[in-house]
Amino acid sequence: MERFQDENKWLGSFGDIINVKCPQCGSQAVVKRIFKSERYYSDSRVLECKNCYYSIKEGTVKYSATVDTYCCNNEDKIQFKSQLLNEKPNKIKLKCPICNEIKEFKPAITEVPFVLNTDNTAAREFSFNAELWYQKEFSRSIFWAYNLEHINYLERYIKADLRERNNNGSTNGTMISRLPKFVKEAKNREKLLKILEKWKK
Ligand SMILES: [Zn+2]
Ligand SMILES: [Zn+2]
Repeated sequence: MERFQDENKWLGSFGDIINVKCPQCGSQAVVKRIFKSERYYSDSRVLECKNCYYSIKEGTVKYSATVDTYCCNNEDKIQFKSQLLNEKPNKIKLKCPICNEIKEFKPAITEVPFVLNTDNTAAREFSFNAELWYQKEFSRSIFWAYNLEHINYLERYIKADLRERNNNGSTNGTMISRLPKFVKEAKNREKLLKILEKWKK
């Protein structure tokens, strides 16, 4: 008989490195904690992909530049809005449709906080809203894990015939105590273990 005793780990115990899907190339990437602050949620993170070298820091801001001004004596303005840019441009070269001259204009800059896609069909981490790498739809919910360590811990729990709480530690915030019902149900055991096994390959 396999026995599992809650080690009182909370979700954050597994969250220093989270495997995610790269928002640029779709390969496996990571969201890493930087460890500058002592606190899990206030510490900042970085998303890095080894496949396409995409990298972005938490709190990144992008810029949108707009030009809305007169050039010649014409009553029509020159209007322009840029895509999201990584740097603030000082000047933007535009061709005036009236006099056909190319001139430099000083744009107005708006800061736009960077966020990834926010659709709710996938499980995502909280810093960049990046899709978790290990996730699968399961009985109208999503079964997911942050990384291999998390997978191994879940596996030990799901395999166990005897599951024990451990009241010495912080009891109501443990990862195990917050698992959704479908993960705890015996009828789902074999299916869930198969998913975990696949993820480990
Ligand atoms: Zn990538
Ligand atoms: Zn002009």
